[in-house]
Amino acid sequence: MNAPQSHSASIKLPRGLNYIGGQWQDDAAAARIEVRDPASEALLGSIPRSTPAAVDAAVRAARAALQDPAWANLPPMGREALLHRLAALMDEHASELAAIESLDNGKPIAFSSTLDVPLSAQWVRYFAGWPSKLAGRALNPALQANGSTHAYTIREPVGVVGAIVPWNFPLVLAVWKLAPALAAGCTVVIKPAEQTPYSLLRLAELIEQAGFPKGVVNVVLGDGSTGQAIVDHPGIAKISFTGSTAVGKRIAASVAGDLKRVTLELGGKSPTVILPDANLETAIPGAAQAVFVNSGQICFAGTRLFAPRKIFDQVLDGIAAVGASFKIGPGLSPDTLLGPVVSQRQLDSVLGKVEAGIKAGAAVHSGGKRAGSQGYFVEPTILVTSDRENPAYREEVFGPVLTATPYDEIDELAAYANDSEYGLGAHVYTRDLAKAHQLARRIQAGTVWVNTQLAPDPAMPFGGFKQSGWGRENGEDVFAHYLETKSVIMNIA
Ligand code: NAD
Repeated sequence: MNAPQSHSASIKLPRGLNYIGGQWQDDAAAARIEVRDPASEALLGSIPRSTPAAVDAAVRAARAALQDPAWANLPPMGREALLHRLAALMDEHASELAAIESLDNGKPIAFSSTLDVPLSAQWVRYFAGWPSKLAGRALNPALQANGSTHAYTIREPVGVVGAIVPWNFPLVLAVWKLAPALAAGCTVVIKPAEQTPYSLLRLAELIEQAGFPKGVVNVVLGDGSTGQAIVDHPGIAKISFTGSTAVGKRIAASVAGDLKRVTLELGGKSPTVILPDANLETAIPGAAQAVFVNSGQICFAGTRLFAPRKIFDQVLDGIAAVGASFKIGPGLSPDTLLGPVVSQRQLDSVLGKVEAGIKAGAAVHSGGKRAGSQGYFVEPTILVTSDRENPAYREEVFGPVLTATPYDEIDELAAYANDSEYGLGAHVYTRDLAKAHQLARRIQAGTVWVNTQLAPDPAMPFGGFKQSGWGRENGEDVFAHYLETKSVIMNIA
């Protein structure tokens, strides 16, 4: 492991200011929250725990922008041009964005420079293609005589979107919310996670540079109290939240008061199922990547492995070897493949859940401990258990921690895969196409990946069954949440 050190001196981080109505401003009344480098634990800076007054100012700016002719009367292709300009600026500043992301979150620069940042620009580009295609429909009403009625639908932006982003993919998940909201003609108040505010602040500078009218995008910094003020604000029409299931449930309860629209992208405990006929040369590294990439801090990480009993040891040894080959170190070291988890709190939580799993009877195949003594590093860990009540098997750990369970009959697999309150993703490895499609139908998950892993796509709807959330992000489906449909029915007889 490389010695953790602070790289903050060489990377210019944006100041911890709110961006409201096109102005960068402090919230003088707010307490401060420290932001730390998870690799060195060094202080990177601080942000305000923005007050309800700051949230109110941001919502007012977003509501004004919704009526501003510079945005409201912009033709759809004008929104497309702005989004394309933003994507080009993200490409131009890609290495800077990747460095900020790796410093702030701890994720390996090998991934932030090849995945997080390029994918975020691709997402913006994908959604730049939509505004001119978001059409209503001419319809034939069922109860009217032919030719007596002209009827059609109009699709209108839902209003101000309150977007709340977690810390595991700060830039990617901000863009998953911003790009479709802006494509739909909404305006946005967005809050990054308090642990990882900087890539979104830099993105806001690029949004300004791209020429979006003032107030269309507003960034408010803070923790859950600021997030709750966004959720509770009556000027917001829709909440788009990604984060923990516990907070998602609180938000669902909060919006019951005024029936805000809400989409929730929450936790997961996604299975990786390896069938007896799988090509282990792809299944083993695939299963390892599905749980160790981003130090397991992926909502659809493949955290429950089911492998045939006959090849169980071979599969586990293979996954452990791939994990051991991931060089542990600070995100900014070019050869790092396993960075720290995001915070001391997350380190304590991951280690606590591993310990609880072991105490309840899980056997440690590999890992299981903190790596080093400085920085929030966790060893790639495999726990073996057939006890479906073991907490490490049941609860989302959100660290590089796999539980592995052997099976004897393929018929057991769908039941195993579905044995969770979550239903976000699933990874299936097999050479048998019929079995793959049969399992894909039986598994209760928003996305089933077959012979691949960790591969979301902007055109493919993404979201969860069961307690993994409400609604779908990405693809055409996402617009159901950012547009209201209005029917116009006119007597022309
Ligand atoms: P969290 O849900 O508390 O935080 C996510 C975001 O929600 C942050 O921006 C936070 O400031 C905000 N928030 C917190 N309370 C809020 C409230 N009452 N109203 C509105 N916004 C609020 O997640 P966390 O505490 O950072 O992580 C805890 C666990 O959540 C993790 O261990 C992991 O299991 C899970 N998680 C899941 C995802 C995911 O992508 N599904 C992402 C991050 C964390």
